[in-house]
Amino acid sequence: MSKDNEGSKANKLFENSSLLSSPVPSSPSLPKRQLKRHRRPFTSKTNVPRHIKRRVQSFLYKLEAQNKMPKHITVALSGGKDSTTVAYFLAQLKDRFGYELSALFIQLGIPTFSSKSREVVEAIASKLDIPLHVVKPEKPLHKIVEEKAEEIRAGRFKICAACGVIKRYLMNKFCWEHFGKDGAIATGHNMDDELSFLFRNIFSQSGVTLPTKGPIAPGNEEEKLCTRLKPLFWVREAKIETFKDVLKKEGLPIVETECPFKEGNSQARIKAFIDDVEKLSRRHKLSNFPSSLLKYMVGLSPHISLDRSWRKQCKICGYPTSAEDSVCTYCKLMGRGKNGREAQNKVRQSKVG
Ligand code: AMP
Ligand code: ZN
Repeated sequence: MSKDNEGSKANKLFENSSLLSSPVPSSPSLPKRQLKRHRRPFTSKTNVPRHIKRRVQSFLYKLEAQNKMPKHITVALSGGKDSTTVAYFLAQLKDRFGYELSALFIQLGIPTFSSKSREVVEAIASKLDIPLHVVKPEKPLHKIVEEKAEEIRAGRFKICAACGVIKRYLMNKFCWEHFGKDGAIATGHNMDDELSFLFRNIFSQSGVTLPTKGPIAPGNEEEKLCTRLKPLFWVREAKIETFKDVLKKEGLPIVETECPFKEGNSQARIKAFIDDVEKLSRRHKLSNFPSSLLKYMVGLSPHISLDRSWRKQCKICGYPTSAEDSVCTYCKLMGRGKNGREAQNKVRQSKVG
């Protein structure tokens, strides 16, 4: 699901308050106790560290029960509150669940922001005593911004979408090349992120393409796809926001500045829309609508068989693509394949600590 697949049509939809009075679909498969638990408001008395730890633990128990526990987990560590929280709990629980842990930072080449973030990430990894790997795309993001300046201005090229492609590609490539099918990549995506992907997907011009893969997206050897894990999938952002104080007390720094390339505030607006729907559903004593919708979609996912026949191998790097010319978006962004320079399939890489 593309996080950046948005249109002005979608934005208009969020402004349309009549959406809030749409009928609320019921979620027949949800047990009553769960609905009750989710109706309970988040108060200052909630024991946030215990709550988050329990969610991460139950995520790991599920992995274990499904025989999907990877030998090695790599946390994609941006230095933000979410991925730092994931690293913090995965480090605490690694001996109990028996996986090895490392961290990956992608130095994208965003002036000042990337180098500052790297310093923070190095401090986090050292405090948590986990090995840190740093990878860089061969073309830094600021160079892409320069090259595409006109298209960006005209709204034909979205730098956040390109950044998303680069991050996903490099996370997978790193994990696949180092650990193959024994490895998994864990990101800090939380429940509000997932809800906003879902709502953006629903309101996007292309319509609903996929419910959501849920907290565990299994890898695929044929496609060189690593398993992707989202341990905070069922944790609300407000709770992680509160948990920041604990992280700080534990001596873990956090990147507080925003990426200077971040486009508009559409994600913030979608999240505000979700909050409104949630308040409304509580007022009417309905089940917590946004989260039960997410549960419903996750439950639906295994019943939808996706046509993967369109998947091809990129003729330059060998990773999957759906492009007609069989050159993946990452290779295109990097300018690979142009001028016959197809051999530059190398990502600069270093290991810190
Ligand atoms: P974002 O796409 O910025 O919302 O980030 C989603 C998740 O991707 C984060 O929670 C991290 O796990 C991961 N991530 C984002 N940026 C980086 C980065 N520069 N290096 C490593 N992981 C990242
Ligand atoms: Zn490629």
